[in-house]
This record gives sequence, structure tokens and C-alpha cells, in this order.
Amino acid sequence: MPELNKGAVQRLDAAHHLHPFTDSRALRQKGARVIERGEGVYLWDAAGRRILDGMAGLWCVNLGYGRQELIEAAHAQLQQLPYYNLFFQTTHPPAATLAATLAGLLPGELQQLFFTGSGSECNDTVVRMVRHFWAQQGRPERRVIISRHNAYHGSTLAGASLGGMAPMHAQGGLPLPDMVHIDQPYHFGEGQGTDPDEFGLARARQLEQKILELGPERVAAFIGEPVQGAGGVIIPPASYWPEIQRICRKYDILLVVDEVICGFGRTGHWFASEYYGLQPDLLCMAKGITSGYIPLGAVAVGARVAEGLIDGGEFFHGFTWSGHPVACAVAQACIEVMKQEHIVERVHDDIGPYLQRRWASLGDHPLVGETRGLGLLAALELVADKTTLARFPEAAGAGLVCREHCFEQGLVMRAVGDTMIISPPLVISREQVDELVDKARRALDLTL
Ligand code: PLP
Repeated sequence: MPELNKGAVQRLDAAHHLHPFTDSRALRQKGARVIERGEGVYLWDAAGRRILDGMAGLWCVNLGYGRQELIEAAHAQLQQLPYYNLFFQTTHPPAATLAATLAGLLPGELQQLFFTGSGSECNDTVVRMVRHFWAQQGRPERRVIISRHNAYHGSTLAGASLGGMAPMHAQGGLPLPDMVHIDQPYHFGEGQGTDPDEFGLARARQLEQKILELGPERVAAFIGEPVQGAGGVIIPPASYWPEIQRICRKYDILLVVDEVICGFGRTGHWFASEYYGLQPDLLCMAKGITSGYIPLGAVAVGARVAEGLIDGGEFFHGFTWSGHPVACAVAQACIEVMKQEHIVERVHDDIGPYLQRRWASLGDHPLVGETRGLGLLAALELVADKTTLARFPEAAGAGLVCREHCFEQGLVMRAVGDTMIISPPLVISREQVDELVDKARRALDLTL
């Protein structure tokens, strides 16, 4: 490809490129940020500025940029077999090997893997699997899937419908039928003044109320992110997940856990289901599975559903890129590096607690109403009044202002409304955590 300067890239981009999740008119006025290179936890933009990537891309570049092991795995597989499909009674070594490796890492009875190209495709696959499963059990009326308001499960029609993002539902007449939502366990935003565990139980019990309202015989599954990521790093009170699991079991509702963000060490465990003691029937993963180097997703399926699907004859579902050999080879290399470098243990024992300690120190800032986090996920809430914890009026846009100040400091931090969130690469060092927190504090000072 020819080398282009920043202005030329911006011109081509503005003329021809429609971006995801972007206000195109605003983008065209300002010109897009041009990111040219990455190394470790840093990015470099077209002006040569070094930027600490506090979001690991989109919660995915867990091993950081420029890992030769992953690049070499892709190169070797491209030479050996760049593509073959898994349809019609065929397999290839990278897909079979990766499925077995994942089965060895996953909790409980999750021993069967269905590969996809993304997190959204995982959730579409879940919808088709659970409905097909129940139909095979002679219960075709079990179709409804319950999820949460403000959840994020992707951008396909089923993913966005399972998700609970109101602006996404407003565009295109979503959700699809038989997808309903209960409230999220967001204590700071929706439960202030209540005991967190009481609040967690009350929110979990909405699941039971919804099941009874719909009729248990109609409900196929409940789906949730262990920690809601895109919704604002919402960490449920300890009482929440055990109660959800109890209710699912009581009514024989399948439990689906979306670990697209939480999987692969983000919370200090290979999967957050281990942390919360969950035994899901299905588990979705993507993003960190290849450290973001190449698209891949997978749905892990527990014994009961897998047996139902296997007995159910041909499953009329799949993608050209299901188990793409190059993606599977990169995922395999990624998992090997994670094991060799004890990445998950490091997040659990060392860098996770260190980041959480340093992040909590921002809690004394006059703009900060709460800090919270788990592993290498963290959030802070911007407030207009630290004593009453009153939030800014929506129009104030404090989160966006803070995000821009972060960027000027050379830090990517994301704003979800007035909730500032981070999810840095899992290989971040202590010095880089210090740099991240110092830059965040300066950005907060400038936002005041
Ligand atoms: N599920 C969760 C929890 C996610 O955070 C995301 C993306 O951020 C998705 C699903 C969708 O994944 P993708 O963008 O790969 O389709």
C-alpha cells in the first residue's frame, strides 16, 4: 500500500468511509484521528504522538501490540492452509486443536465449541441454539430470551436485540420478538442509598418476576455479561449472580454468559464465570481469544445442550469464517503465550490489585463520585456534587470533555455518559499503570 500522509488519509476517509458507532457529520468536520502503529501498550498517531491505550483497542488487545508469536503463527498458517471451511463433514488441525485447548480451559461441563467470526455472531448463534435445543426437547414454545437493559451483546439484529441499549433499539425497530429485558444491577446509577447486596438481590429477583409474568413454559434462556462492559463496567453486587443462577435452575431456564469482554484473563481468571461461581449452559467468547489480532469468536456449549444439538440432526447455521484456520492458529498461539507468561495469574495476584489500588486513589478527586474495578477493568463516575453524588445534567457532556483531555494527555480512556472506563492490555507494567492514573488525574483536573 502506498504511504499516505495524515491529511490524505483523512480526505479518503471522509470521502468514502462510513464508520461504526460514529456521528459521521461531526467526524467530517474534525477529521478522523489517524492511528498508524502499535507497540506494547502504546499507539502512535499520524502526528507521531505516543498514546497509552487504556482500552486495549476495544477490550481485546490483551497481549499488547507487536507480539511476534502471534504474527508468526498467522504467517505459518497462511502458508500451510490459508482457508478451508468446516461445513459438510470437514475439519482442519487448527480448529480441532483450538476446540480441545478451549475445552481444557473452560469451567464445568463446557466441552463443545462452535466457532464464529465475532461476539455478535456468538450471540446470534446462541439464539438459534437455544431455540433449536428446546424445539428438539419437544418444547418449541420456549422461545423467549431474557436479558438486561443497558447490556451489550453486539450489533447484529439478534445481538442488538438481546442488548439493552435504547439508542440501538430506536434505530431499526428493535428488539426482535421474544427478547425481553429486566433492569441491570447498577448500584451507583440506580441503587444509591440502598444496601448493595439487597439491591443485587432485588435486581436478580426481577428475573423471577419476569419469568412468572411471561409464563415459565415460554422462557428459553437468560443471558448476561458477568461484568457489563460497554454499559459502563458495571460490577454486580456479590448477591446478584448466585440468585440469577438459582432462579434459572428453579425454572429450568438455560443460563448464557457473554464473556466476550470478561474472558481470557480480563478479571484475573480465564473466565469470569469462575470468579462468580457460575455454571453456564452456554458461554460466548471473542475479542481476547486472539488478543484482537484477527477476528474470531466461539460459543462453548455444555453437555446437556450439546447432546440435544447432536441428536437434533443437521444444525442449519454457520459462517464462512467459522473456525477460520488462521484465526484458530493465532488463538492457539495467544493462549500458549498467556500460559507461558502466567498472564492470568499476574492479573489476579499482581497487576490487577496494583491497578485497582492506584485507580481507587482517584476517588479523592472533586469530580469523582465512585471508583470501582475488577482485574484489569475499572470505572469511575463523574459527579457534579461530590457530597450528594448528584450527576451532571445530561447536556453537560463531562464524560466527553474528560475523554478529550485524556487523549490530549496521550491516554485512551472511554466515556459511557459520565462514566469513565478503562480496560488496558493485560501486559501493562506497574510504571505504565502509574502513567495511566497520572494522566487520568490530569485529565480530571482539566475537566473541572
Ligand atoms: N458481547 C459483548 C459483551 C461485547 O462487549 C461485545 C462487543 O463489545 C459483543 C458481544 C459484540 O462483539 P463483536 O463486536 O465482536 O461483534
